[in-house]
Formats: sequence, C-alpha cells, structure tokens
Amino acid sequence: MDAEASPSRSVSGPLRGALRACRGAWRHAARLALDIALPTLCVACREPVDGEGVCADCWAKLSFIEPPYCPKLGIPFVYDPGPGLLSMEAIADPPAYARARAAVRYDDVARTLVHALKYQDRTDLAPAMGRWMARAGRELLAEADVLVPVPLHWRRGWSRRYNQSGALARVIARQAGVRVATEALRRVRPTQQQIGLSRSQRASNVQGAFKVAESRRSEIAGRRVVLVDDVLTSGATTDACARALLRAKAASVDVLVFARVVDTHRAPI
Ligand SMILES: [Zn+2]
Repeated sequence: MDAEASPSRSVSGPLRGALRACRGAWRHAARLALDIALPTLCVACREPVDGEGVCADCWAKLSFIEPPYCPKLGIPFVYDPGPGLLSMEAIADPPAYARARAAVRYDDVARTLVHALKYQDRTDLAPAMGRWMARAGRELLAEADVLVPVPLHWRRGWSRRYNQSGALARVIARQAGVRVATEALRRVRPTQQQIGLSRSQRASNVQGAFKVAESRRSEIAGRRVVLVDDVLTSGATTDACARALLRAKAASVDVLVFARVVDTHRAPI
C-alpha cells in the first residue's frame, strides 16, 4: 500500500491517472487469470466441481422426491397407499392450487443451494436446479400453458437485483417448451419475511399481497398455470398466489418448487 502510494505523490495529475488506469487493467487481468485457473467450487461443501454447482457427494445427499407421494401436495409417502389416495394434510387443509411437486426435500444441502441462488447471486445454480424441477414436474408441465414465477416486491427485487423464481422458471420453460409470464402476477403490497412467523401469521401476512395485473389478464384467463417458486414451506405464499391467479380466471393452478419442507413427524395417511 505504502510502496504504491509514495511515488504517485511526486508525479503530475495526468501521469497519476495513467498509472492508476494501468494498475486497474493489471488487477482486472489478474482477476481474469484467477477465474480461469481456479476450478468452480461445490456450493455446498466448497470442494472443486465440474460446473454443475454441487459435487457428486452433495448431489447424493440431496433427497430427491420420488413416487409414491400425495397426488395433491406432492409430500412423499413412506409406503404406497394405492392410486389416488391423498395425504391427511391434503384432506384436512386443502390448498387453493390443484397439485404441487418438488424436486427435493428442504434439508441442509437444499437450503445451501436455495440461499446461494437467492442471496449470493449464484445464478449459475439455476440451470441444474431448474432441470431437476422440470423432471419432478413433468406431469404438470405436459399439461401447462404458462409458467408464472412467484414475484418479489419491486423494492426487494431491486435490492436483490433479480428474482430467483424467475430464473428457475426460465430454465424450466426452455426444458419443457412452455412460455413464462414474468409480469402477470404482481406483489401489490410489501410483506414481511415469512421466517419466524406462525402458520396463521404467515397466511395473514400474504393475504391480498398478490394480484394479476389488469393489462396481463389475457395471459392467465383460461390458461393452465404452473406457479414456480424456490421453496414451499407453509404454503401460505403459494396459496395466496394461486388464489390471485384463480381470481383472474386461470383454468387451473399447479405448483412446482425446487424444495419443499416435509414434516417427518406426521403420518403419511
Ligand atoms: Zn459438495
């Protein structure tokens, strides 16, 4: 620092500017060289990995959700209760949407991926996560007309720069050949973070928070919609979005998320 600062004190203004530009260019080149030299690290364990975001070990730790699961909520069953049988949760507290599917259970590795995509600008994770979602939701996507990402409020979108659900929806759209309506569903009032809120607080927090823009109703009315989000927790946000889409006359609303919270304490049926 001192070695750099002392000679520049004795040089004239334009020369100082040229020196500074030189140093900037050098730093830029050094950073580029580092990017090329350093392998990508696994987002979960920081071991080197070949471009996919997670290493083979962490991939093996992800709990991919496979059948048998509740045909409505997509919650995995411990045993197969036979075709068409719903989970207790789906019967006791039916959601506004028709069906939900998730790629993985929301556990430690899944949480790391979601947080990296959401808060650390790791947009390079979206292709792998989106592909896993397209696979988990293939039954829904085969019947879908349009994908709708869960929107951020514009203020939150601004500070976080992009919507992670939108990034996932774009990958799924390419995989499944279904278009995305990015602007159709809007968050019309800011909501608190759902973290730390009870189930009923979560529901009232997002009550009336979403709306289909008048000018975009034609993108939703009469269409079979798949709502896309990163995580399904209590389902309050998803339900509020599904209600807004149904009010705008969507023909049906299904839900596709990367990870869903699975309450292991409850019996499957
Ligand atoms: Zn790893």
